[in-house]
Amino acid sequence: EQIMHESMHTYKPIAWEDIAGLEYAKSTFMETIILPLRRPDLFQNLRRPPRGVLLFGPPGTGKTLIAKCIATQAKATFFSINPSSLTSKWVGEGEKLVRTLFAVAVAHKPAIIFMDEVDSLLSQRNKNEHESSRRLKNEFFIQLDGTLTNDNDHIVVVGATNRPQELDEAMRRRFVRRLYVPLPALDARKQIIQKNIEQVKYELSEEQLMQLAELTEGYSGADMASLCSYAAMEPLRSLSVGEIDVIDAQQLAAVTMGDFESALKHV
Ligand code: ATP
Repeated sequence: EQIMHESMHTYKPIAWEDIAGLEYAKSTFMETIILPLRRPDLFQNLRRPPRGVLLFGPPGTGKTLIAKCIATQAKATFFSINPSSLTSKWVGEGEKLVRTLFAVAVAHKPAIIFMDEVDSLLSQRNKNEHESSRRLKNEFFIQLDGTLTNDNDHIVVVGATNRPQELDEAMRRRFVRRLYVPLPALDARKQIIQKNIEQVKYELSEEQLMQLAELTEGYSGADMASLCSYAAMEPLRSLSVGEIDVIDAQQLAAVTMGDFESALKHV
């Protein structure tokens, strides 16, 4: 029951086009996860795909988004679990939950188990680990190894971390494929602005979009989404109290470069 609640939240299907940039990650996933889950018969023996994939890179760069996209494209059930929800449990409960998670995933195969902040469960930072977290980690390894070696399970575990250096050797070994998910480059930033702003009325020329992409070097995808959302609020901020009750959504002013300029001061 808990697993279904915590992990199987329904998610909006994500298309490849929803993800800007990350071309290398997309093609790698096509070959290592999506095709094998859809056509397991083609991926036997030497063509055996990896079952553990690690995504690492700065926060907000689309690791969760890409994991959901893989699940959509692979027609797989998506389970998402955050280790902090396991470690906070009563002694023994976390392990039970890990076992159940893998069992439920097998029952809903093909499935992707996405584990965000995998370092918080499996870091080497805490040398004097608490007995219970050590047991939790062991259970996770047992389940993971069972999945990673069983050809018929059709389960892929995708771990994500912003601190790959804190994973211990035992963990690193299990994530055979490791992919760096970088901050978006210029073209990807332009694409993210365009995708976000298309949801509202806007007046921005190609040049202005490019200018915004240039001004946002160092922003993550999540930062870009916040920026667009801040700018999109500007036409509402200028409404008077009297207008709020009567204004028609269609009458709202278009979002302009000026709105982005003020958003850039805040985000
Ligand atoms: P964290 O490490 O903080 O968990 P993350 O790498 O998993 O972050 P996401 O949660 O996938 O990042 O991204 C947050 C939001 O940022 C997404 O919902 C999306 O709106 C936007 N975003 C991030 N990267 C991209 C991208 N490459 N293309 C389009 N949108 C993106």
